[in-house]
Amino acid sequence: LTVGVVAETAPGERRVALVPKLAERLVKRGVRVAVEPGAGSRAGLPDALYTAAGAELAGGESGDARRSDIVLTVAPPGEEDIERLAAGTVLIGFLDPLGAPGRVEALERAGITAFAVESIPRISRAQAMDALSSQANVSGYRAALLAAQRSPRFFPMLTTAAGTVPPATVLVLGAGVAGLQALATAKRLGAQATGYDVRPEVAEQVRSVGAQWLDLGIEAIGDGGYARELTDDERAEQQRRLTEAIGGFDVVITTALVPGRTAPTLVTAEAVRGMRPGSVIVDLAGATGGNCELTEPGEDVDHDGVTISSPLNLPAGMPLHASELYARNLVELIELLVDAEGRFAIDPADEIVAGACVAGRPEEVA
Ligand code: NAD
Repeated sequence: LTVGVVAETAPGERRVALVPKLAERLVKRGVRVAVEPGAGSRAGLPDALYTAAGAELAGGESGDARRSDIVLTVAPPGEEDIERLAAGTVLIGFLDPLGAPGRVEALERAGITAFAVESIPRISRAQAMDALSSQANVSGYRAALLAAQRSPRFFPMLTTAAGTVPPATVLVLGAGVAGLQALATAKRLGAQATGYDVRPEVAEQVRSVGAQWLDLGIEAIGDGGYARELTDDERAEQQRRLTEAIGGFDVVITTALVPGRTAPTLVTAEAVRGMRPGSVIVDLAGATGGNCELTEPGEDVDHDGVTISSPLNLPAGMPLHASELYARNLVELIELLVDAEGRFAIDPADEIVAGACVAGRPEEVA
C-alpha cells in the first residue's frame, strides 16, 4: 500500500500533508510513502529529509505520488487536481464539503473515496485526528500576533523612564479553538484580554487562559455542541449589545463560525464607526463572509483609522508546525484505515469512518 504526498498547488499554500518523522512512522508500518518532489520545501522540509525517513520521491520521471492508494492533501483539490487522481484512490484532506458540495460530487464522479478532515466527528477517540482544531490553534495564535503588529500600541503595560503605557485591550468574539488560542496569545503578550461566545460553557475556558468573560446573556447551542444560527431578534439584540461594548477595545479579533452557514455579523459598520482611530480588527471568518460588516476577505482595509484585516489562510504562514500537527492528525486517521501489516482494513460502520467519508464507498476499498 502506498501513501502519496502532493506538492500543494493552491496559491499561498505552504503547508505539506506529511512531514518526514511521520512518513517514517508509516514506513515502519509497512506502508510505502511516495512524495512529490518539493512537497515540503515551502514548509522548510527538503526532499532529502523525506528520503532519509524512508520515503521515495515520485514526480515527473520518477513516478506519480498522486497515483498512490491513499493521497494526502492540505488544501481542497481543484478540478485539475481531481482529474489527476485515479478511480479507486482514497483521498484525505480538507475538502470543505459543506462550503463546496460541487467538489464532493466531482470526487464521487471520479470514483474517489474521499475523507474530509472537517467531517471527522469531534468525539474523544478522534481528538488526535482533529485537524480543524490543530489548524485553528495556529490561526488563533497568528491572529493575535497579526493584531499586535497592526496595532499602533504596545500590547503589554510598560513602565519606562519615558513614560507609562497601559496594556492594550483585546476582545475576542467566538471562543472556540481559534478564539481561545488568540486570547491566550494576547494575554501572553501582556494585553488585557476579554472573550465572548454564545456557548456559555466556554466562560470557564476563557477565564482559564487569564481572560475576562463578556456576558451578553444570549445563548445559542445547536447540534454536536456547535453554536446554532441566531434568530433575527437574537441577532439584532447581540449586535446592539456588542456595538456598545466594542468601542471600549483597542483590538477585536473575530472567530465566530456556524458550520455550513455564512459567518454571523458581530461587528456592524456602526460598531466600527464607534471605535477609536488606531483600533484594529482581525477577522478570521473572511472565507465565509466575515464577522465584520466592513470586512473585505483577504484584504487589509482602513475605515477612518480603524484597520480591518481579513487573512484567509493563517496556518499557511506558519507552515512547519502547522504541517507537523496536521500530519499527525492524518497519520492517526490512516492508522484507523490500515492494519499493522500495512493493508487496508476499513470498517465502514466505524463512527469516524462513516462521518469523515464524504464520497465513494469505504466498504469497497481493499
Ligand atoms: P467554530 O470554529 O465552529 O466556531 C468558533 C466559535 O464561534 C465557537 O466557539 C462558536 O460557539 C462561536 N460562535 C458561533 N456563532 C456565534 C455568534 N453568533 N456569536 C458569538 N460566537 C459565535 O468552533 P470550534 O472552535 O471548531 O469548536 C466548535 C465545537 O467543537 C465546540 O463545542 C468545541 O468545544 C468542540 N470541539 C470538540 C473537540 C473534541 O471533543 N474533539 C475538539 C475541538 C472542539
